Amino acid sequence: VEMRSVVARAGSVTPRMTLVIVRDITERERVEEMRRDFVANTSHELKTPVGAISLLSEAVESAADDPAQVRHFASRLMAEATRLSQLTARIMDLSRLQSDTDLTDLRDVSIDEVVTSAIESQAIAADSAGIEVVRGGARGLYVRGDVHILSEAIGNLVANAIAYSPAGGRVGVGVKNGDGTVEIAVTDRGIGIPDAEQDRVFERFYRADQARSRRTGGTGLGLSIVKHAVQRHGGVVELWSRPGRGSTFTVRLATVAAPEPTVVKKKRKK
Ligand code: ADP
Repeated sequence: VEMRSVVARAGSVTPRMTLVIVRDITERERVEEMRRDFVANTSHELKTPVGAISLLSEAVESAADDPAQVRHFASRLMAEATRLSQLTARIMDLSRLQSDTDLTDLRDVSIDEVVTSAIESQAIAADSAGIEVVRGGARGLYVRGDVHILSEAIGNLVANAIAYSPAGGRVGVGVKNGDGTVEIAVTDRGIGIPDAEQDRVFERFYRADQARSRRTGGTGLGLSIVKHAVQRHGGVVELWSRPGRGSTFTVRLATVAAPEPTVVKKKRKK
């Protein structure tokens, strides 16, 4: 429909230009549709914790004479509030990554730094699940990018590898030096993801096998953030997985030359 009306209006415009206009409208519509979906999904997801918080507040109020009950409801209230704030933080991250604005904090980023901070951000989760995170592979590689966004993306992959592994398991974070690229692979020997779900897990709010994954208290936004973060850096994410055997998420990015060490000259005393 759009095509016909544009062609009719365009009149003397050359066919090539018409095509560009049509493509532009289609793209704008697609973006608009994505935005509408995002708002709808988000509102839906926010309803659950908000509803719980309001019910629990009422429960605290009506249990006022029973200190033990008040403490019980108050601690659940705190847990729901924490979950709500994590969810809103992730929604904001994702909406920022989905917007057209350029990444602002670009510099030569050390992959060593990204991996270190990703693993450190999940140290408590790994500890309490009794999971050892083993790191290996190449060192000294750099990419052009935003260190916070990249660290969060790899951190999300490590968090998932821990969450979907059996207690006492092992998670690997390996770095490989390709030809002008770096591969960061996060591997677990956990529950794995069935073939049919492997594309869908990158969709926002999508959670494979609801019953099993709900227990981990996730948001369904982690992998969507990973995908957008990596795409914004011109990279790709690949997934290998077999149910019952585990998963490997591989992020591939173009490398840049290691930055020259900055020499700080001492001021000469006069
Ligand atoms: P969540 O907050 O649910 O972990 P994600 O977007 O990070 O959201 O992941 C989406 C879904 O993909 C998860 O709910 C889970 O079903 C599946 N998944 C992600 N990572 C793994 C993994 N390492 N092993 C098994 N399943 C995974």
